[in-house]
Amino acid sequence: MQKFGGTSVADAECIKKAAAKIIRAKEQGHQVVATVSARAGMTDELIALARDITPEPAPRELDVLLATGEQMSIALVCMTLNAMGHPAISLTGGQVGILTDSVHTKARIQKVRTEAIRRELDKGKIVVVAGFQGIDPDLNITTFGRGTSDLTAVALAAALKADLCEIYTDVDGIYTADPRVVPNAVKLKAVSHDEILELASVGAKVVQSRSVEVAKKFRVPLCVRSTFTDSPGTVVCGDVCGFEDVPVCGVALSLNESRITIAGVPDTPGVAAKIVGAIGDRNINLDMIVQSFPIQGKAVMSFLVKDTDLREALQTCERLKDELGADDVSSEAEIARISAVGKGMIAGKGVAARLCAALGKRGINIEMITTSEINISVVVSSADGERALLAVHEAFRLDELPEVEPLAETPTGLQLSESDTMEGLHVQLVEFDRDQAELKIPGLRDEPGQAGLLLGALADAKINLDIVLQNSCSSGISVTVKRDDVARAKQVVDAMSPRLTDEPAQVSTDIAKLSISGVGLRSHAGAASTVFGVLAREGINIEMIGTSEVKISVIVPEADVERAVAALNAELMLDN
Ligand code: ASP
Ligand code: MG
Repeated sequence: MQKFGGTSVADAECIKKAAAKIIRAKEQGHQVVATVSARAGMTDELIALARDITPEPAPRELDVLLATGEQMSIALVCMTLNAMGHPAISLTGGQVGILTDSVHTKARIQKVRTEAIRRELDKGKIVVVAGFQGIDPDLNITTFGRGTSDLTAVALAAALKADLCEIYTDVDGIYTADPRVVPNAVKLKAVSHDEILELASVGAKVVQSRSVEVAKKFRVPLCVRSTFTDSPGTVVCGDVCGFEDVPVCGVALSLNESRITIAGVPDTPGVAAKIVGAIGDRNINLDMIVQSFPIQGKAVMSFLVKDTDLREALQTCERLKDELGADDVSSEAEIARISAVGKGMIAGKGVAARLCAALGKRGINIEMITTSEINISVVVSSADGERALLAVHEAFRLDELPEVEPLAETPTGLQLSESDTMEGLHVQLVEFDRDQAELKIPGLRDEPGQAGLLLGALADAKINLDIVLQNSCSSGISVTVKRDDVARAKQVVDAMSPRLTDEPAQVSTDIAKLSISGVGLRSHAGAASTVFGVLAREGINIEMIGTSEVKISVIVPEADVERAVAALNAELMLDN
């Protein structure tokens, strides 16, 4: 399976280069299926054309229009292959039978038929499939959302059980950071599905994140490489070795994020569920959800949405304000998110401290922090974004990353059932951990470097932090640590107290961490709302939240954790 992006089919010259890659694979003895994007700029042009006619084109007709971009490409690629002496046939998404739901412009793939493709392969032909599109149960043409030709490729590779899915593009692989911003970024030889899933969803634009979800779920090995060189590219697979001592394998900057803040939220069960539910109902993904610890029974809740979703998300929150009894809803668009990702951080190693210290040293103020198992994200002002990315890349010495090797596919324990559709949410496991305590450090001074100082002192004392959350400086930082460490952690923090904050740190030991792991937890806006909805129904208060692509973690009162697990298992119909 091969996929060629828009720049790889931009003109006749490029198409010939792409065709040469297809022919090479064929001559190596493979049966080749290729999928292609619209020519670079084409989809934008078609959207502009539609908008010139009406600001709100009917989504069904927009899909009919947008699908033509890829249809042009498949015809041109097949003509080229034929002219070069290799019989090829083009097929649209509908002709293949890429079956989707009916959500126009954002459709999800449910099933991929393989008969038509196999028939042509058996005749010795190369099959070229239009990316980014499918067909709904009523035979309407659907498209999957911007940049999703990758998804077509991975879904086809999964359905056909292809040996490999090569993503050909205009860069020669996946780098430790975007080389246009970080000139000394290095190319990764291999990286795991989980890591690239985190990086792809936070703005590393190399592979589309929904396609990585499908790759992880069906264990499709990917290789990202250049159409224009012979460089070996980056392998994305189940796991890699050689990274054991490296906490971070990549950093990403996302500028198209906005923050919504809801102030004066009552600290009662059900608040998070209402907010996440209302926004999820509109098919908007929210991220980096942080609730500050309450002062006089009222908390501040913040989260990020994409800039393009801001208007709708704000309206939703405004409407919710009275129902929640909140005081105020506000937003900021001029923010950037920096994320550091790596499986190596599971083992601790003071990653949050290093990251925050690097920013503090350069006078970059951190406005928000969240962590999940393999991802630490901070929010800074968008003006500081690129500088912050450079600082973090340097702090983890990513320019000297050791060579890693792909591991032969390791079993990930992912068990699919008959009812699992190609892009359906897949929940694997609900588990809990009682060996946790929370330390709340109230109101830091609002100046650069405070978080770095605090987390650095904890790291120096060899205290491993699990979750780290900061809403804004003035609302303090919360961390979780192993119960045995919490008294020592408090001493460390209190010893720094006059410098950081005037108030003493607070300890709670009667908490537990609840984790839900799976695939699609973030891209399915409904997953988080289901989890929070179940907890709300059970009257369980949520103290802290950490979300990532592969895991939702919440801190709840210890007394409630078993009830929470049972209710979640029942709701999600798991029997573990
Ligand atoms: N042509 C579509 C887009 O630009 C899909 C793709 O290129 O991946 O969004
Ligand atoms: Mg922004």
